[in-house]
Amino acid sequence: MTNGELFELIKNTLKAADIEDYLFDSKCIFEDIMHMSGTELMLHKNDIADKAAADKTLKLAKRRSEGYPLQYLLGEWEFYGLKFKVGEGVLIPRPDTEVLVDEVIGFFGSENNSSPEIVDLCSGSGCIAVSLKKNIPDAKGTAVEISSDAMPYLVKNIRLNDTDVKIIKGDVMDGRLLENFRDEESEGDFRQVDCIVSNPPYLTAEEMSDLQTEVTFEPASALDGGHDGLKFYRVISCLWKEILKDNGLLAFEIGYEQGEAVKELMLNTGYYDVKIIKDLGGNDRVVLGRKKATQ
Ligand code: GLN
Repeated sequence: MTNGELFELIKNTLKAADIEDYLFDSKCIFEDIMHMSGTELMLHKNDIADKAAADKTLKLAKRRSEGYPLQYLLGEWEFYGLKFKVGEGVLIPRPDTEVLVDEVIGFFGSENNSSPEIVDLCSGSGCIAVSLKKNIPDAKGTAVEISSDAMPYLVKNIRLNDTDVKIIKGDVMDGRLLENFRDEESEGDFRQVDCIVSNPPYLTAEEMSDLQTEVTFEPASALDGGHDGLKFYRVISCLWKEILKDNGLLAFEIGYEQGEAVKELMLNTGYYDVKIIKDLGGNDRVVLGRKKATQ
């Protein structure tokens, strides 16, 4: 089989399986395994394809045609202009989440605080913590993650991007985790951080029962936000406030229908300046606010 015939075969396999971006996905798979760009393919389309590589490419195309996510097949995906290792243990970084990163970077730019301490809860691949640390170089970053399956990706992504982000393994719903922030020097009070950021699991029970095929391969523990999807927002807003400075920033990614509910929840749990920010598709995607000073 020639390179040209192989590419046509992949493209037609994905098209027949109704893969929406079949051309893009075919190019990505072809490039990844055959190590050939579009231009190189044009130049070498009549050359005989390497048999082993061609078999591997066809295998991936078949997997993709069954709805397996492209990002997991490639093993690497871009977020905020940086590369992240991805696989079944972690949620795939989404462009929508870049809005959350933008907001936090913007906040610290305007606050004239170039060395904030930032804690990312439910960190997963680490895409939020790493891109914040990359763009606010003097920030002190901590990533909190419970999943043992996600942990190798988090570790690799911090290294891959040459960043210094501390990892805490544990459950953000468990108050004992705050002990990691106990400050011995100030008579055992909690250390106070400048920002808590999180893209927690936020799908409702109804959404969990009707996932797009691709999403069924992602970890349910990174998606399932309880019956109304708000479980993590309730706990994080209250519990993690303990380690947030007065006027510090709490910034969440949210599901597109959760803006008002999360805003209300934050207003009721001691935050002010609570804003809902839209993503590029015009959907509510981020809610952020500042902690009211404690009396
Ligand atoms: N954005 C993801 C989805 O819609 C959900 C991510 C999350 O729950 N944090 O599939």
